[in-house]
Amino acid sequence: SLSLSVQNGSDRAADVEGDAEETPLVGKACELPAVVASTEEKCVLEETLHVARSGHGTVTRVHDNPSYGSNSADFSTDLSTRGLRLQLVRGVVTSAVFLLSFIDHLMVCTGVLYHSGLECITHLRARGLSLTPGGIAHQGQGPRAKVVILGGSFSGLRAQRELSRRFDVTVVDIKDYFEYTPGVLRLFTQPENLGNLVSPLPTARSNLVVGEATSVTPTHLKVRLCQRGRPASLIDGACSQKLPSSEDDTVMLPYDYLLLGCGAGYPCAPIKPTSSESTLTCRQDTWTAAATTLRTAADVMVVGGGLVGVELAGEIAEAYPSKRTTVVTSGGALCSALPPRVGVAVRKWLAKHGVNVRFHSPVELVEASKGLVRLCSGETITSSVVYDCRGNGTSKAASLLDASSLDSRGNVIVDETLQVIRPLLYSSGSGIECPRTNGLASGGGQIFAMGDAMVMPSCTDLKLGHTAELNADVVAENVHHLESENEPISAALESEVPMRRHAASLGKYPDAAVGAPIAPRVFCVSLGETYGILVFNGIVIEGLLPAIV
Ligand SMILES: Cc1cc2nc3c(=O)[nH]c(=O)nc-3n(C[C@H](O)[C@H](O)[C@H](O)COP(=O)(O)OP(=O)(O)OC[C@H]3O[C@@H](n4cnc5c(N)ncnc54)[C@H](O)[C@@H]3O)c2cc1C
Repeated sequence: SLSLSVQNGSDRAADVEGDAEETPLVGKACELPAVVASTEEKCVLEETLHVARSGHGTVTRVHDNPSYGSNSADFSTDLSTRGLRLQLVRGVVTSAVFLLSFIDHLMVCTGVLYHSGLECITHLRARGLSLTPGGIAHQGQGPRAKVVILGGSFSGLRAQRELSRRFDVTVVDIKDYFEYTPGVLRLFTQPENLGNLVSPLPTARSNLVVGEATSVTPTHLKVRLCQRGRPASLIDGACSQKLPSSEDDTVMLPYDYLLLGCGAGYPCAPIKPTSSESTLTCRQDTWTAAATTLRTAADVMVVGGGLVGVELAGEIAEAYPSKRTTVVTSGGALCSALPPRVGVAVRKWLAKHGVNVRFHSPVELVEASKGLVRLCSGETITSSVVYDCRGNGTSKAASLLDASSLDSRGNVIVDETLQVIRPLLYSSGSGIECPRTNGLASGGGQIFAMGDAMVMPSCTDLKLGHTAELNADVVAENVHHLESENEPISAALESEVPMRRHAASLGKYPDAAVGAPIAPRVFCVSLGETYGILVFNGIVIEGLLPAIV
């Protein structure tokens, strides 16, 4: 910023300063003030204005003032001093901008490293390895308490890792492998990549039962086995009790703590595996078939302009640039749950890659098998293939619990400690003996829910893999605390047992996981193989780097 001082003899008039206003020079014509009299004075002022213009600065414009006659005005400028001041100001501003941008990048990098670290651990854990010991070891004298974890994915595997040293842990899943859901959209175009996105479920420190949970009693989880030929030792390890021969493919797993990490359904097949894909071979067949359907389709419609819809459209547009691809969305923006800049960038990328986006088109019905979509307006649109990406469906735990534990969308309601609220369970009717109880009022085991399977009314977190893992951290911590209250221990071990806490002071989400009232928002939107948008809280960066991340 430059200012001109106006001199009237020796008197620097305060009036002039009072009348002065800051006028941006960039892109504006700047008239010399009428008070400028002589040619020499004009030259000085012209020069000053030139400096200000070239420096994108502002200059103080002096209003006409009748008290200063045109001949009495006397301007002088000390260009060298002002130039120095300008440089100093520039230097300070540049340093400040550099510092801010450095902090900004540092935060992004920290977020990226944190997220990558979590995912790395997930992969290691899925392979039965671990970077750190899995929580507190068993210290009691009696048998270890039984923890049954339903779901071997982000939340379930995190809990398995944290609890398996101390508890008798059994993981139940419909399949014997972990599949990395955030990466599966590329399998629509590159099904041969499945091997890079999966790993076997762990069996080293916990039991694995491959089967579909069908109901929950206050003391047992009922599971229909998916792989009858599985080694009996794995199932026996879970201390299951076989039911009578009419149900010989069913086992009852007793629990002291039941952790529901079974996720939610997704309307677009085959994004979530089903019980008929319990082995990797079956799953590979499914993805190969899905890729063939897409490859041979004349045109494609993706319903839903959220994270999954736009990523799928991106994969298709990049792999099949000549295929007519349309995204149908109800609102006027894409990825509306994310910062607006993300939606704008996604829109630009899709437009550049020839994807047509149909905004303001709320959908009433999708019949993917018929390639048909009916809009709320009554209009029906068709396409060779339709992918329904309108978000998560009902919690997979909905059919296991009483309706009083569910919200209107079928999600399991939990309190801040992630315990299921009002778990009125179906009676087993099996006459099976109860396992050791926790001395809880209900007389049964304790039930928690985490990840996509549950809803915590006071929480607005996006349903993400990383959030599911944070949920599991809190659940594991609370299971440890509850067990510390119940575990019979010798006097010698008393001092070594971790701090005993009353149930009323159990850890709450997210504070117990991240030490703050809100969890960090870290996620990446991938559009094809070379473009991504990374979001860390309010910070958004786009381009190749996020795509690599
Ligand atoms: C296409 C897509 C892309 C995504 N991209 C990202 C992303 O980039 N980043 C991100 O952080 N998040 C992403 N998400 C969200 C993320 O995948 C989920 O939030 C996360 O998987 C939830 O983990 P979870 O452990 O709660 O449940 P899930 O991952 O859904 O796992 C549930 C497990 O339970 C098993 N199961 C379910 N029912 C039963 C039953 N009755 N009996 C036995 N086993 C059962 C299932 O087989 C499964 O293994 C994406 C989701 C989708 C659908």
